[in-house]
Amino acid sequence: MNATVAIIGRPNVGKSTLFNRLVGKRLALVDDTPGVTRDRRPGDARLGDLRFTIVDTAGLEDADKATLAGRMRKQTEEAIQDADVVLFVIDARAGVTPLDAHFAEVARKIARPVILLANKAEGRAGEPGIYEAYSLGLGEPVPISAEHGEGLSDLYDALREEF
Ligand code: GDP
Ligand code: MG
Repeated sequence: MNATVAIIGRPNVGKSTLFNRLVGKRLALVDDTPGVTRDRRPGDARLGDLRFTIVDTAGLEDADKATLAGRMRKQTEEAIQDADVVLFVIDARAGVTPLDAHFAEVARKIARPVILLANKAEGRAGEPGIYEAYSLGLGEPVPISAEHGEGLSDLYDALREEF
């Protein structure tokens, strides 16, 4: 089975950093050119003995507030349609924002397994955000640090259960 895993979440939570971490190449849109919209990008991911297609979502960073929610919804729905498993990412350092809560509601309604990732959880600054993440109703958050490569074995365990 070649599973497809979509990474969703509001801008700046670390989706592209996670994508790069799992693909092992600088492919994602961390430094996307402003104004250039490329909403989804697939890559070949590996995590331990798991192989899967990972889809990064981007292109929202330059949207203003009024259009952000609408575009995020469309993009989220499109990414989810093609995915077997969804990774819903929040920034544990920022805590749960209204936009996170809004999209968690979208994610809760989909007929796909959703794994909640509390990113930027290295050190202690993410601890309150990890507890807040339970309020999203997406189950137990998996603390990770995409930048530092922490928590990936827990992500592995969570993905294995869904494949
Ligand atoms: P995206 O908009 O969700 O794709 O987020 P990016 O991957 O572009 O990352 C946004 C910012 O968060 C960048 O400055 C990253 O370096 C930073 N970042 C990503 N992952 C981590 C992490 O695990 N820890 C910390 N402290 N920063 C991170
Ligand atoms: Mg990105």
